[in-house]
Amino acid sequence: MHKMIIRVLLVEDSPSDAKLLRQIFTHAYQHELQMVHVERLSEAIDLSLAENNSQVNDAENANSQQDKFDVVLLDLGLPDAVGLETLKEYRAAVADIPVVVLTGLDDEELAMQALAEGAQDYLVKDQITIQRLIRAIRYAIEREEILNKLRESEEISRQALAKEQQLNELKSNFVAMVSHEFRNPMTTIRTAIDILQNQNNLDEVRKDVYFERVQDALNHMLQLLDEVLFLSKSEAAKLEYKPAPLNLISFCDEITEVLQMKATGQQNIIFNYEGDCNLAYMDEELLYCILTNLISNAVKYSPPQRNIWFNVICKDNVAIFKVKDEGIGIPEKDQVNLFQTFYRASNARRVQGTGLGLAMVKKCVDLHGGEISLESQQDLGTTVIVKLPLNYRGESN
Ligand code: ATP
Ligand code: MG
Repeated sequence: MHKMIIRVLLVEDSPSDAKLLRQIFTHAYQHELQMVHVERLSEAIDLSLAENNSQVNDAENANSQQDKFDVVLLDLGLPDAVGLETLKEYRAAVADIPVVVLTGLDDEELAMQALAEGAQDYLVKDQITIQRLIRAIRYAIEREEILNKLRESEEISRQALAKEQQLNELKSNFVAMVSHEFRNPMTTIRTAIDILQNQNNLDEVRKDVYFERVQDALNHMLQLLDEVLFLSKSEAAKLEYKPAPLNLISFCDEITEVLQMKATGQQNIIFNYEGDCNLAYMDEELLYCILTNLISNAVKYSPPQRNIWFNVICKDNVAIFKVKDEGIGIPEKDQVNLFQTFYRASNARRVQGTGLGLAMVKKCVDLHGGEISLESQQDLGTTVIVKLPLNYRGESN
């Protein structure tokens, strides 16, 4: 498990103690142990950090074969630090090298406190034998390795738990939302069907009205289901980024045309572009999700017949999509939470929505290696800006 040579940093200001330890090392274990001796805490910290860095730089610097120290033997009474502070200061600066403290005969209590502060072991100076020293060093290294593994697995479990909690939260949010959001369209459908079934004297125009209501309610529920499915896919990391060559201009043109037709309040979507946007490499489905959600929001949260500006600027290998409206705006306190699932701003209650659109947009932007930002002022309007690399090949590349 261990490598052949163990590197020890001895931090000891007493020349006689240092000499003794050095002798033990040299005579008994010169092939196994390599010792570096310093007298001050500051030197020990500098050296430990420098050795750590030299390891990081090894890839660039083939000559530097220097490993980091495996263990530190730390005297607790140094010219620049005394008592437990010595250990605390060292551990604060260097967290990943095990420490064995060196104490005097009458310092057992201090030694115990040192163990509580993270030292792996202690040695009483006048009682050091070769066997004790070697055993302390080996145990300290082994304990540190076990501790590191424990920390790693704790971190993995912590992340898994956080993920699980997030999914649970999403699920319970979903249940709450389903009972709330699905109830309205279902009631609409039931009422419409009741009327269509039981009122024989309905004329064709009235019948059409009720059929249309059923149709709208169904569409709304299907859209809701699609959104939830999309998000659960992305939570389970099953949402993929599948880029392909894409002409941004005709793509954005089409989206504008479709959303313009759907804008029941006759808001006016004005599309403009700058730069060479013909040759992008992006995921069409994800980009569609981003743009339709942003433009639909701009339409939905604007009074009738207002303008909505949809600009695309391509330069320096980045596409900037800007959607600007003069709608109800978003109160400042709500702005930080908008990308959370089911979050809706306090001034949006009268407009229908579930608070899933921007959460989906954020996932799509992340998959594109892009960024999203938002500027908004209540009652004045909102501008959302999405920046995507024009040629993003995916995360692993
Ligand atoms: P849906 O899931 O149907 O899109 P939604 O529009 O409520 O529902 P999001 O698109 O996620 O959900 O937007 C979250 C909230 O952000 C909205 O509820 C609204 O309060 C606010 N918002 C988003 N875009 C705008 C905008 N252009 N103007 C004003 N408020 C907006
Ligand atoms: Mg929306």
